[in-house]
Amino acid sequence: MLRKLPYGANYLDLNEMNDLKSSINHKILFRYQTLGESVATKFERACERRFDVRRALACHNGTEALRVSLLATRPAIGDKVYIPAVTFIAVAGAILSCGMIPVLCDVDENFALDPNKIPKDAKRIVVAHMEGSVGPLPSAQYVVEDCAQAMGARHADGTHVGTRSFAGTFSFHHNKVLTSGEGGLVLTHDEEVWELMRRYHDHGSSRIHGQYPKWHAGAFYGENFTTSELVASVQLQQLGHLDHILGDLQNGYDALIGSINPSGKFIVRPRKDGDVKISLRIELETIEARRNLEESLKATGMPFWTLERYFLPEHPILTGRNSIYSDGFPWSLAADHRVNSEVFRSTHDRLLRTICLSISPEIGRDEQCRQAEAYARVLRCL
Ligand SMILES: *Cc1c(COP(=O)(O)O)cnc(C)c1O
Repeated sequence: MLRKLPYGANYLDLNEMNDLKSSINHKILFRYQTLGESVATKFERACERRFDVRRALACHNGTEALRVSLLATRPAIGDKVYIPAVTFIAVAGAILSCGMIPVLCDVDENFALDPNKIPKDAKRIVVAHMEGSVGPLPSAQYVVEDCAQAMGARHADGTHVGTRSFAGTFSFHHNKVLTSGEGGLVLTHDEEVWELMRRYHDHGSSRIHGQYPKWHAGAFYGENFTTSELVASVQLQQLGHLDHILGDLQNGYDALIGSINPSGKFIVRPRKDGDVKISLRIELETIEARRNLEESLKATGMPFWTLERYFLPEHPILTGRNSIYSDGFPWSLAADHRVNSEVFRSTHDRLLRTICLSISPEIGRDEQCRQAEAYARVLRCL
């Protein structure tokens, strides 16, 4: 019953990877030198159709996707970017590596950035839809939606996450909904923003497919985050499985909700319709009660996880304010800014009382129901 692989990884299948085979057969794995349309472009087009968005750009990973989105806001050194206090450290790392300062804001009952906790004059905000849970979108000049854990989720109005803001970023890391081991994607409706990102991610060049890169007068420096044909082939295969993965996660979620009876000992945090049903979140009354539940789940071999690793106010990267630069850049630009973890005390307490029950799309309905029953049995014994 123990889940061995996350989500999309279960569906990796060489038999469905004709693009991979033909890339190898053609012996051209660089996207800008293929004879016909590259697999990378084919993948980007498929994402534009699937997520109903004007432009997609594939890149190395979710962190680079965040970086290239933030850079496309044309920031100034030391600018502040407001982020949730509960998310993966990559969000803060991407901001710092762009020479900006992450400012933590408290989260709501679903651990999503609470728009009421962001200063009214905030110009740049990153929201993160953690564990497939779609958070509210604040209004600001530049909002980047980090959808690394929420591919396929939708906002309440039915639009896809990552398509309602300045840019949306995605990851294809092993642990995400779809995987190519490593891989990233940016979505935007803005043609000019896409063009800025495309140039930055390819050495600042204005490249024409099949040619050596060109740099116009006024070109800015860039880096190289261009994806490879091999990775794009795997991502294209994975994208073909997104809909049934989402559906099978929903089935697993329904089975759990149907089996678990409410009790005075815990509350179930229900998911919204558009969420990717990555897990069922249970909130216990005390930290001690959660510890007991963890022990019972371990004893019965039932998979689960907790979320306190995402608590950023006490993350050593943010409390230590260290840097690889010898002058401490960019922390040196924000001498006055310190994280006060006291402000986030009750969020931390709630994280320590929360546990996530695993939902597996790949095990089939019968097994999902058996698993739901097994969780329900453990919870009845609390
Ligand atoms: C995984 C993740 C990232 C980073 O993506 P990588 O592809 O691993 O670089 C960023 N934000 C969140 C919320 C993530 O879960």
